[in-house]
Amino acid sequence: MENIDLHLLDKKYYLPTFNRIPITFVKGKGSKLWDIENREYIDMLAGIAVTNVGHCHPKVVKAIQDQAGELMHISNFFVSPIQVALSELLVKISSMDRVFFTNSGAESVEGAIKIARRYAHSIGRGGKIISMENSFHGRTLATIATGQPKYQQGFGPIPHGFSQVPFNDLEAVRNVISEEVAGIIVEPIQGEGGIKLADKAYLEGLRQICDENNVALIFDEIQSGIGRTGHWFAKDHYGVQPDILTSAKGLGGGMPIGALLCNEKIAGAIQFGDHGTTFGGNPLAASASMATLKVIVEENLTKEAKEKGEWLMEKLNSLKEKYSTIKEVRGMGLMIGIELNEPALPYMQQLLQEGFVANATAVNVLRLVPALNISREELESFLLALEKVFIMKKELTNAQ
Ligand SMILES: *Cc1c(COP(=O)(O)O)cnc(C)c1O
Repeated sequence: MENIDLHLLDKKYYLPTFNRIPITFVKGKGSKLWDIENREYIDMLAGIAVTNVGHCHPKVVKAIQDQAGELMHISNFFVSPIQVALSELLVKISSMDRVFFTNSGAESVEGAIKIARRYAHSIGRGGKIISMENSFHGRTLATIATGQPKYQQGFGPIPHGFSQVPFNDLEAVRNVISEEVAGIIVEPIQGEGGIKLADKAYLEGLRQICDENNVALIFDEIQSGIGRTGHWFAKDHYGVQPDILTSAKGLGGGMPIGALLCNEKIAGAIQFGDHGTTFGGNPLAASASMATLKVIVEENLTKEAKEKGEWLMEKLNSLKEKYSTIKEVRGMGLMIGIELNEPALPYMQQLLQEGFVANATAVNVLRLVPALNISREELESFLLALEKVFIMKKELTNAQ
């Protein structure tokens, strides 16, 4: 079947929740993608910060194939060797104490909210959750309640017990803290919100406020975690440890798996039956995740992400000197946003024409979250293409 036929069938059958780009991808290897017409692309999006070790890494593929032939699923009523190994490794790399596996980011945040409330109620506090403006924590009912109003439109009644304060504003948090508050959730680097970094003093201040009030501090590292910023988690740059940490996206190297981690204090409030999941962390998903984390260690990809990210940001900043359309370049490791003075969508589309997959978020921001093992050559060719797009746009504007 041809690309256009597939596009039309998709339009006919799939709920129109995505304004899909009419490109059909059929194969991936590392940071290369091929569409159904056998055209090659370089992937600067990695399935939205998911394929952190590249598409179809041989070790991840082999782990999934081997596990699929042994045992895919058993339910969480029983023990699985691969899940135990993953629990131990995740606890170790996050410096948290306990883990619970889920199937997605939003589910991890839902779990985080539940255990924060469970703990708060155990010490006689209320269940309110404070989140930040411009944040993104998922698309389930509770997670849209934590997020931007635009995602809540038409889905009322929205669960209550949630309120937002401006990001990077400690005073705003101090003003809403009361006995009613159970938890504060924040992305150390806002992803969908346009790659906005928390200030160090802000996260330190949140830690202090939470300690003083016995409120759970929740870091949502679903996008910023798993080596992306040059450490296992962005929190490691800040030196601030949350009470609860959420992970997903890059955790499975492409396999849907999420996790929530917490410290012993929060875990102490959880009893049998308080939370559950059928699929979460099943052997198949756990095998993909274990293989992904091992590849990150073996190939030193946190260091790679840091070095390549710094180099790329430097190059992007020199492009900024030349093209006034670029307002600001922000990021950490390979989580980079190029904020433009105009909508980023046409730039993203032009890049696709040139054979590069990127993403436009928060209207004006071009988001780059490639695989951590993307090569210098691939990044160099992206920079050339990006400059070409800026030149084209500039000439178009001048001609008008
Ligand atoms: C993507 C994302 C989520 C939601 O993850 P899903 O797997 O789409 O449910 C939550 N929080 C952050 C920070 C994210 O980037």
